[in-house]
Amino acid sequence: MPQNPEKIQDHVELFHQPEYQQLFQNKKEFENGHSAEEVARVAEWTKGWEYREKNFAREALTINPAKGCQPLGAIFAAVGFEGTLPFVQGSQGCVAYFRTHLTRHYKEPFSGVSSSMTEDAAVFGGMQNMIDGLANSYQLYKPKMIAVCTTCMAEVIGDDLQAFINNAKNAGSVPQDFPVPYAHTPSFVGSHITGYDNMMKGILSCLTAGKKKQINNGKINFIPGFDTYVGNNRELKRIASLFGFDYTILAENSDYLDSPNTGEFDMYPGGTKLEDAADSINAKVTVALQAHSTVKTREYIEKEWNQPTVVSRPWGIKATDEFLMKLSELSGKPIPEELEIERGRAVDAMTDSHSWIHGKRFAIYGEPDLVYSVVGFMLEMGAEPVHILVHNTNEVFEKELKELLNSSPFGQGATIWGGKDLWHMRSLLFTEPVDLLIGNSYGKYLWRDCKVPLVRIGYPIMDRHHLHRYSTIGYQGVINLLNWIVNTIFEEIDRNTNIPSKTDISYDLIR
Ligand code: SF4
Repeated sequence: MPQNPEKIQDHVELFHQPEYQQLFQNKKEFENGHSAEEVARVAEWTKGWEYREKNFAREALTINPAKGCQPLGAIFAAVGFEGTLPFVQGSQGCVAYFRTHLTRHYKEPFSGVSSSMTEDAAVFGGMQNMIDGLANSYQLYKPKMIAVCTTCMAEVIGDDLQAFINNAKNAGSVPQDFPVPYAHTPSFVGSHITGYDNMMKGILSCLTAGKKKQINNGKINFIPGFDTYVGNNRELKRIASLFGFDYTILAENSDYLDSPNTGEFDMYPGGTKLEDAADSINAKVTVALQAHSTVKTREYIEKEWNQPTVVSRPWGIKATDEFLMKLSELSGKPIPEELEIERGRAVDAMTDSHSWIHGKRFAIYGEPDLVYSVVGFMLEMGAEPVHILVHNTNEVFEKELKELLNSSPFGQGATIWGGKDLWHMRSLLFTEPVDLLIGNSYGKYLWRDCKVPLVRIGYPIMDRHHLHRYSTIGYQGVINLLNWIVNTIFEEIDRNTNIPSKTDISYDLIR
């Protein structure tokens, strides 16, 4: 089927051409599938309570997990440091998945190498892969640091990263003083947020070794956590400069994940300077903007650095107020007037949209910190959470989420579905429908199937452009969240009221 080179068609149009339609029809002859009636009957049955019970009795199978694997979070943390090349000890296919996943979200190249372990490494161990891989990476890509993590394969055979890295250094793969932090990131436990935490701890342990001084440097460290909105690091920097205190972001990956197109390829744009990261041990406090992706790192900072840590997630008005008051307390500086004015604007915007969001029943899925923060904001708007699904849940998270729900009259009808996947969510949406679904791009299949409007918040968002460039924290973040949520509601109302002389009585120009 030759294409006209003057008019190359995207598959959106291409597959509607008669020859492709015929091809699909012909294919069915050999598929030996069920009749269309039988498929429709079973599809209908899967929408009911009987199927829901069977679905929730499922134990040994995950369908559409609402989480990623550990090394993905680890390499995400690594690229936030200056000149850092993520190196994954394990199989090539895993690393191809991490890179494409991140690239599809950010529309940016994401560099990360693998030690390409295959059958022989699985039998004899991956030490030679590490020796060769570190040498090649160092020579070819000229990094300032190589951050090593693992895939399941390396973990199953028990590769010892510290010993392997020492051996590679002794073999001359990289200089003895070249920083090669590492983190074991087995994906059969935890998720991408655990991997982020492990790698952050690994990098900080490596860079700060022997750097502790008697007097603190007066700075505040910030750890954003597995936060995929590059606008948030930029908003954080803006807030800190309005206050006028010194700070270090660990790790600052906004330039890496949103680099300017200058016509020249830069493999390592931006990132936290390694010397600043090394000096973070001497800061007066570390503020984490997520709790569950920083558990081990905060524990390490408190115990090993003897430095206090604080968790503050500034999503929504109340949480931003608390965040700014905490920064004021820690820095000894007043809250800048400009931020007070922004607060007024955010409250004004909330008031404008309030009547459209108040009382809306919603379902949400995603990582613990993101879900906690969005639920907190939705409660401020008077929306009512119904299904809260967090695949990578834990007791600490569920306890704090319950406290949040109990603190609001709008949180009383919510159920937390820990450890469940998006196929469970499908059953929930069919049997107990809601007005709104909040989550990442994978929710678009639920949108089509269950006819529930989807607000895209989270990671990954691969089917809409630029959302990751915005901020979701601070008062500016409030306005962005509102924008996404209330305009999704309006689009849905328009869609449902656009039949002339039938439903268009409410097809209004003004909302
Ligand atoms: S779960 Fe394990 S095997 Fe699968 S992609 Fe992640 S690291 Fe690789």
